[in-house]
Amino acid sequence: MAELVLDGVTKYFDDDGDRIVAVDDASIDIADGEFLVLVGPSGCGKSTTLRMVAGLETVSEGALRLDDTVINDRAPAERDVAMVFQSYALYPHMTVRENMSFGLEESTSMGDAEIRERVEDAAAMMGIEDLLDRKPRELSGGQQQRVALGRAIVRDPEVFLMDEPLSNLDAKLRSTMRTELQRLQEDLGVTTVYVTHDQTEAMTMGDRIAILNDGRLQQVATPLEAYHAPANEFVAGFLGEPSMNFFDASVEDGTLVTDQFDFPLSAATLEDLDGASSVRLGVRPEDIELVDEATGDHDYGATVDVVEPLGNENNVYLTFDGDDETFTAVVPATDAVEAGDHVVARIPEDAVHIFDVDSGAALH
Ligand code: ATP
Repeated sequence: MAELVLDGVTKYFDDDGDRIVAVDDASIDIADGEFLVLVGPSGCGKSTTLRMVAGLETVSEGALRLDDTVINDRAPAERDVAMVFQSYALYPHMTVRENMSFGLEESTSMGDAEIRERVEDAAAMMGIEDLLDRKPRELSGGQQQRVALGRAIVRDPEVFLMDEPLSNLDAKLRSTMRTELQRLQEDLGVTTVYVTHDQTEAMTMGDRIAILNDGRLQQVATPLEAYHAPANEFVAGFLGEPSMNFFDASVEDGTLVTDQFDFPLSAATLEDLDGASSVRLGVRPEDIELVDEATGDHDYGATVDVVEPLGNENNVYLTFDGDDETFTAVVPATDAVEAGDHVVARIPEDAVHIFDVDSGAALH
């Protein structure tokens, strides 16, 4: 069992007397065998969180628990965690075999035969058996990353900590490694915390994602929950590419009035707003349909500015009639629209998100 709990974990840095709060009161229960992806924009505190778990940074406040034992003050080598870095961090003068066995020789009393067996098993798992006698400089980036992962596996840790491990790989290799890593984690059943700022990795790899912004946890949920039911405007805007369209709106007589259009609300939606008078309306680009004719009261005239063909679908950038506000729709490539076309944008009521204008919290 390896349940990892962050309980009100906070990290302050001192910057010439100014206090920087890198991580602010983060609480997450990561279940035994769970794959948790920590995601957020640059500087939001992802690496600091991971480094605290690894023991590479001290915890300023709160508790880190591994299976009910507080590990705040345990030395990194005694935490039973293995970290994989973006930079691979291989020793250049050692062979692959030496890189993989080094940690075991240093920190355990394991015999040579067992170390050899573990290294060979991990190498087989990563498909690098033929590279064991090479030095890191004789390997491609993808092979080096496999060695770095193999080195984490041989230690048979309670927890894997991964800090953007795939970000130095090219797009194709990255997608292969993404699925391989997921399979490996599932097979080994090791509790994993994986840091990334990559949307695809966040949406596809983890059992759950934890979204951080400005040191604060915004939501911990399955990727689909966070995507379809974002806790707040930040999460809604962060997940999804192209990102959600947002409009400022006031609530007047059961209608959301924006500078661009009026959006009548059903009684059920209105009830969720709980009397709010100023809100933000959000709609995902793929939820907007482009049709020829306005037939309902959620249909709005717009002009197509740019069409970006992506193969099976198109990103379409549009401007509402009578306004210079632009918005984005993602439509099937079979929708024949071109720059300059006048179209009708349909925004289905069941697809809209509504957020509190001050706190950003999701109301509907
Ligand atoms: P990135 O995706 O760019 O790596 P991140 O989400 O991993 O970013 P962190 O590296 O955890 O972010 O940094 C969080 C905040 O803490 C940032 O404001 C950063 O400048 C600050 N910070 C990190 N390490 C230190 C340090 N040693 N001293 C002072 N401030 C630091």
